[in-house]
Amino acid sequence: MKHNLVAGEWIPAADAVENRNPADTADLVGLFALADAAQTNTAIEAAHAALPKWAASTPQVRSDLLEAVAQALFARADEIGTLLAREEGKTLAEAKGETIRAAQIFRFFAGEALRVAGDALASVRPGVSIEVSREPVGVVGLITPWNFPIAIPAWKIAPALAYGNTVVFKPAELTPACGHVLAEIIHDAGCPAGVFNLVVGSGSVVGETMVNHPLVDAISFTGSVGVGRAIAAKAASWMKKVQLEMGGKNPMVVLDDADLDIAVPAVLNGAFYSTGQRCTASSRIIVQAGIHDAFVERLAAETAALTVGNPLDAATQIGPVVSERQLAGNLSYVALAASEGAEVLGGERLNRDTEGWFQAPALFLNATNQMRSSREEIFGPCASVIKVADFDEALSVANDTEFGLSAGICTSSLKHARAFKSGAKAGMVMVNLPTAGVDYHVPFGGRKGSSHGSREQGRYAAEFYTTVKTAYEFGG
Ligand code: NAP
Ligand code: MG
Repeated sequence: MKHNLVAGEWIPAADAVENRNPADTADLVGLFALADAAQTNTAIEAAHAALPKWAASTPQVRSDLLEAVAQALFARADEIGTLLAREEGKTLAEAKGETIRAAQIFRFFAGEALRVAGDALASVRPGVSIEVSREPVGVVGLITPWNFPIAIPAWKIAPALAYGNTVVFKPAELTPACGHVLAEIIHDAGCPAGVFNLVVGSGSVVGETMVNHPLVDAISFTGSVGVGRAIAAKAASWMKKVQLEMGGKNPMVVLDDADLDIAVPAVLNGAFYSTGQRCTASSRIIVQAGIHDAFVERLAAETAALTVGNPLDAATQIGPVVSERQLAGNLSYVALAASEGAEVLGGERLNRDTEGWFQAPALFLNATNQMRSSREEIFGPCASVIKVADFDEALSVANDTEFGLSAGICTSSLKHARAFKSGAKAGMVMVNLPTAGVDYHVPFGGRKGSSHGSREQGRYAAEFYTTVKTAYEFGG
């Protein structure tokens, strides 16, 4: 059994969670100690005790730790990528890419740790000077989903540590292995006891304990809207700082003047890569009438030609769905789309050599934006195709959603690209690029039901992981 990291020690637990490969359920990835509320409390107390020293540590100490973590991730990308593919089901290429992304994020924040700056201003009053500086927020609780089991933890842990906070980290129960490897690397890199703690466990026990503990100063959560909303309400009652990244129903507009050689691959990638299990996945394909039939013909052919299979097989383009439960949910949305009047292509469960949760990518053709299958996040390899008359209708359908994470457009018109960039009610806008696939040195996040609180990643991460102090001084 793999243990939790609490106060610098690897601690067992009475219960364990079984981690199985979604492409081959006979493959047991590992057994992971399942923390209870008491173990979570101990981790929080350890983070609290470690805070004063870590907050006062030099930028060099924090930068060196993050750099060492980055180098270990780069060096072990093949091994960790394979583990990630086995536990989460994305293809080996995607999984290695995600591991390298995690390394790049740690390296970026190793630099940022050295660049924490403030302002010095003259006062409006004579003889007074003012300093505006950034300080750590304190103990931060990090709660992450299963779909990017190493990159999302990295983009929360790295800035948390860089800016002098201490961490209690709860990975998703479905993907504890990547969280565990990351904890091992951080520990082995010389992280002081209590500065970083790993507690694998359920959301309802470990997550709730973190959200309701008075010694946790801030919660950064990525996951579903329902859980996010409940966390925000509880965090508000405790006056905790909170940051939520949640779902999406991201639109990809294809205008009559789009280049099909750009639009078709962008839609295939955005809708189906990583098995559609990305918060930024394109799940509403909004297509102008003049190009609609030609576009759909090519998209349907290329969708049907995608190779679904074992992520460790180099020929595989689409891995399995993450779990039996997620697959059942996806299949129920496929049935719903058909019952709502969409023409469904693909979407059926597939059998492969090993027992696993394989599904053919699904297109819901002739869909409308009012259908539930076009409004609710499915989080699987399913995309609605909605026909519109012109740019104005495309933009209005794109914005007619409770979400606002990423929005894309394929067009060769500068005018329409500009109008979409300014008119899309989303945190991220893509022109002639898939809605998913972002850089790590710039802000990530959305609007409306997709995000709450300040942005993640890049220099904007400082907004969440620091608190500002304004100091006035007279005399001396
Ligand atoms: P989820 O069910 O909301 O879980 C996310 C995390 O919250 C897990 O670690 C989960 O723990 C924990 N949790 C569950 N109930 C909790 C509670 N009552 N209190 C505290 N924590 C709790 O989401 P998921 O199924 O893992 O992931 C899919 C969702 O994540 C999708 O909606 C997707 O759009 C979203 N997502 C968003 C982004 C983004 O940046 N916007 C990125 C990736 C994914 P357990 O699962 O261990 O119980
Ligand atoms: Mg869940």
